[in-house]
Amino acid sequence: MRNQEELLWRLQELKREEVSLTQTDEIKAIVKKLKDLRDNVKIGEKKLQSLTELIEKSENEVKELEKESNKRAEQLKIQKEKLYDARGSSLKELLSLQQSILKLENQGKETENKYWDLLKKIEESKEQKKEDKKMIRACQLEYNKDLGEYRKLKAQAELKLAEIKSQQEAVQEQLLPEVNKLYLDAEKRFPVSFVAKLHKEVCTGCHIGVSSNLVKRVKEGKVIQHCDNCGRILIN
Ligand SMILES: [Zn+2]
Repeated sequence: MRNQEELLWRLQELKREEVSLTQTDEIKAIVKKLKDLRDNVKIGEKKLQSLTELIEKSENEVKELEKESNKRAEQLKIQKEKLYDARGSSLKELLSLQQSILKLENQGKETENKYWDLLKKIEESKEQKKEDKKMIRACQLEYNKDLGEYRKLKAQAELKLAEIKSQQEAVQEQLLPEVNKLYLDAEKRFPVSFVAKLHKEVCTGCHIGVSSNLVKRVKEGKVIQHCDNCGRILIN
C-alpha cells in the first residue's frame, strides 16, 4: 500500500495546486481593480448627467432673465418718456414717476447680478464636465488595458489548470478501486486535506494523538488507515 499512499499524497498536492491556481492574488487584485474602475466610470457618468441637467436648467433661467430684463427696459423707457414729457404734472406725480423709475433700475441691477452669476455657474459646470470626461476616458483606457491583462492571466491559468487536471487523472487511474473509493469519500469532507501524515503519533490533519494500535497499523502499511479522530486517510 506504500505506493498507493504516495499516490494519494501526490493527488492531494495536485488538488492544492488546482485551488491555488484559481485564487491567485494576482488575479484577485486585477478583478478588484477592474471593479473599482468600472465603479469610477459609473460615478463619473452620473456626475456628467447631473452637470448636463444643471447647465440646461441654468441656461433656461438665463433666457427667463433676458426676457424679464427686456420687459423692464421697455417699462423704463415708457416711464422716462413720461417724466420728460411731464409738463403740467403735479409734484406728487413727478415724485411717484421718479420712484418707480428708481425701483425699476434697482430691479434691473439685481437681475444683472443674477445673470452674471448664472453665466459663471454655467462656465464652471462646463469646465467640470470636461474634467469629468477626461477622468472617465482615463478609467476606460485603464480598464481595457487591465481587462486584456486579466484575460491573459486567465488563459494562462486555464492552461495550467488543464495540465493539473490531466495529472490528477493520471494519478487517480493508478489507484486501486478500493483506494479510489476511500479517496472519493474522504475528499468530500476534506477537499484539499483528505490525506494526513502521521508525525510522532499525532495526526497532522487534526493535530490529535492517535492510538498506539493505529500507529502500528499505519507503520505496517498493509491496509489504508483512517485517523480515528478526524477521519482523514492517515499515512506514514
Ligand atoms: Zn486526524
